[in-house]
Amino acid sequence: MSLIKENIEEINKRIEKAALKSGRKKEDITFVVVTKTVDTERMKEAACCGEVNFGENKVQELTNKYDSFGNEIKWHLIGHLQTNKVKYIIDKVELIHSVDSVKLAEEISKRAVQKEISAKVLLEVNVAKEESKFGIKPEKLEEAAKEIALLPNVEIKGLMTVAPFVENPEENRIYFRQMRELLVDINSKKIDNIDMEVLSMGMTGDYEVAIEEGSTLIRIGTGVFGERFYPIKTKEEN
Ligand SMILES: *Cc1c(COP(=O)(O)O)cnc(C)c1O
Repeated sequence: MSLIKENIEEINKRIEKAALKSGRKKEDITFVVVTKTVDTERMKEAACCGEVNFGENKVQELTNKYDSFGNEIKWHLIGHLQTNKVKYIIDKVELIHSVDSVKLAEEISKRAVQKEISAKVLLEVNVAKEESKFGIKPEKLEEAAKEIALLPNVEIKGLMTVAPFVENPEENRIYFRQMRELLVDINSKKIDNIDMEVLSMGMTGDYEVAIEEGSTLIRIGTGVFGERFYPIKTKEEN
C-alpha cells in the first residue's frame, strides 16, 4: 500500500475517533487535503483514495493544477488572497477560507456578480492575535461580518483560523474553543444573511484537538504527503 494511502486511512480513523468524542460522526467533518507544493501525480493518488477536497494557498498554483483534474474535485483557497487575483479563481473554488477584510469581500462580490455565481466564503480570524498572521481580530469580527453580509452574491459560511505553531496541540485548545464561541455568539444575534456552520480549523499537528472543540473542516498537508519541499525560487519568481 502506498504511503499516501496509509496516511489517509490513518487520518480518517483519527477523525472518526475525535468526532465521536465531540458527539459527532466522521461525515460531519470535511477533510481538506492541502496540496501546496505537491505535484499532480501525488495529488491523484490522494484522489484515488476518495479524497475530493483539495486546498491550495496560492492562486497561481491552484490555477496551474486546476485543469489536470475533473469537476469531481472541490478546490479550497486557504491562503492569503490579494484583491487583484480574485478574478482568476472566483469560478474555480468551492470555498474561499481566507477573507480577512471587507475590501477583499467587496472584490469577491463584484466578481461573483459578473459571473452570476454565489461565492461561498469563510472569515479568517487571527484568534491568537499573532503579529505574523493574517485574519480579522476577534473584536472586529462582528462588525466586518455585518458589512460583508450586505454584499450581493457572497455567502458567509463560517470562520477559519490558522492556530499558532506549537509542539503540544493542547496549547491550541483554548483558541479552537474561542473560535467556536465566536461563531455561536455571532449566530445568536440573528443578523440578516449570517447563519454560519463551518469552522475551518485544525492542521496536521492539532486536528484532533480542533475536532474535539467543534471544528467541521480540517486542512491537512504534511500528515498526508510528508514534509513539504519548497523549490528554490529564481529572482523573477520572487
Ligand atoms: C499549509 C497549510 C495547511 C496544512 O498544514 P500542515 O501542517 O502541513 O497540515 C493548513 N492550512 C493552511 C492555511 C496552510 O497554509
